[in-house]
Amino acid sequence: MTTPKRPSVLATQEADFPRWYQDVLEKAELADNGPVRGTMVIRPYAYGLWERMQAEVDARIKAAGAENVYLPLFIPQSYLQREAEHVEGFSPELAVVTHAGGKELTEPVVVRPTSETLFGELMAKWVQSHRDLPMLLNQWANVVRWEMRPRVFLRTTEFLWQEGHTAHATRQDATEYTLRIHLDVYRDFLENVLAIPVLVGAKTKRERFAGAINTMTCEAMMGDGKALQMATSHELGQNFAKAFNITYTDSAGQVQHCWTTSWGSSTRMVGGLIMAHGDDAGLRVPPRVAAVQAVVIAVKDDERTLSTARDLVASLNAAGVRARIDARTEQGFGRRATEWELKGVPLRIEVGPRDLDAGQVTVVRRDTSEKSPLPLGEVVATIPSLLESMHEDMLAAARQRLADRTIEATSVDEALEGAMTGFVRIPWKALGEGGERTLNEQAVTVRCLQTPSGQVPGVEDSADDLIAIVARSY
Ligand code: AMP
Repeated sequence: MTTPKRPSVLATQEADFPRWYQDVLEKAELADNGPVRGTMVIRPYAYGLWERMQAEVDARIKAAGAENVYLPLFIPQSYLQREAEHVEGFSPELAVVTHAGGKELTEPVVVRPTSETLFGELMAKWVQSHRDLPMLLNQWANVVRWEMRPRVFLRTTEFLWQEGHTAHATRQDATEYTLRIHLDVYRDFLENVLAIPVLVGAKTKRERFAGAINTMTCEAMMGDGKALQMATSHELGQNFAKAFNITYTDSAGQVQHCWTTSWGSSTRMVGGLIMAHGDDAGLRVPPRVAAVQAVVIAVKDDERTLSTARDLVASLNAAGVRARIDARTEQGFGRRATEWELKGVPLRIEVGPRDLDAGQVTVVRRDTSEKSPLPLGEVVATIPSLLESMHEDMLAAARQRLADRTIEATSVDEALEGAMTGFVRIPWKALGEGGERTLNEQAVTVRCLQTPSGQVPGVEDSADDLIAIVARSY
């Protein structure tokens, strides 16, 4: 195994992780800042990653029974005001349109920061009887939140996401569905596609979504030991049902309020992917989400090399591998190899005259930098299973880092110290809301509360038994 050659264009992770992140965004051609502060331009390579994320998340949402809809970008300001906690939580982040068509509007409209209120209004109309329930909807959209500390992908003022919104007849049904989405859609996607292990748990009251009675979260560890919230699922209780009058007639003819939920995941996951898997040579894209899983590089401009490379791509594509050719032989081989390394393409298959004389190609794994010869005749049979084992290896390596950089603590001071290098597990009863405030003053937060065995707590779990996961975060 060789250590990856580091292109001098990137800061090292150890020297300056935030700088490294900015460098990767630029040099791997992922994103640019937009002209308005906090906005971003997603370039083709990163948009390709997002499209694959969308497809995988969307398939899981549909498997959980929800259907896609599209609602307007603009929401009457009065809608947000109907749920007290919701408007209080979101007011500082709202972009409000007061003028349009050359005139002042009689009622300002907000650019959606999230669509609970609009779904609330519509569900009140669409839900009549218990036969209409559960109502399971999802929307892919852009939303706007005027963020104070924007950072590309991680926290932008406009971002792309999916937001699920559901209405149920009972609290139990709403709770079970929220948990199902959280585990079968988000956790499954993050671990089994992005190869990012996550801690699942409930947010503390302080960190809960504005208007929710319970927020479930998926928390991941980044390369520098900080946490990133990758997706959240909220039980909204009857708060929105009461504010918007979402009711149904039960089988006994009684009118009841619904129980609603909402859940979201965003382009933040692209940033999470970069920071969870990247190394000093750039991005490392896990194979299942990679738009290009294998790049076949024609080393020299001769007909045998080029036609072999083309044939390989065609047979790999036919075998279900997302492969493409790099035939830019007018550019130096080293430069092209570095570029693919920077972009994190899982496998490089190098086709050159010397290897071909020996009846082989050279295969380089991006995750481990392992370089090995492979007989030409075995490429198509070997690559799919190699990609699969790369997924498992990347997930295992990320799990190992999470384990290595998590410590147990019993006091607030220990927790603060531990959070400087990674995650801390501390009994919630040793911390409490007072301890949580002390942590917050040092920019350390409770990422989630878990049962001792690492599950999302249910109503039957006593707060005294819960474990708080504490970390610095993005
Ligand atoms: P929320 O509706 O606040 O629960 O947000 C749902 C998910 O969207 C969060 O778990 C984040 O992953 C993501 N998210 C929230 N705010 C932003 C933002 N400003 N930029 C990118 N992603 C965000």
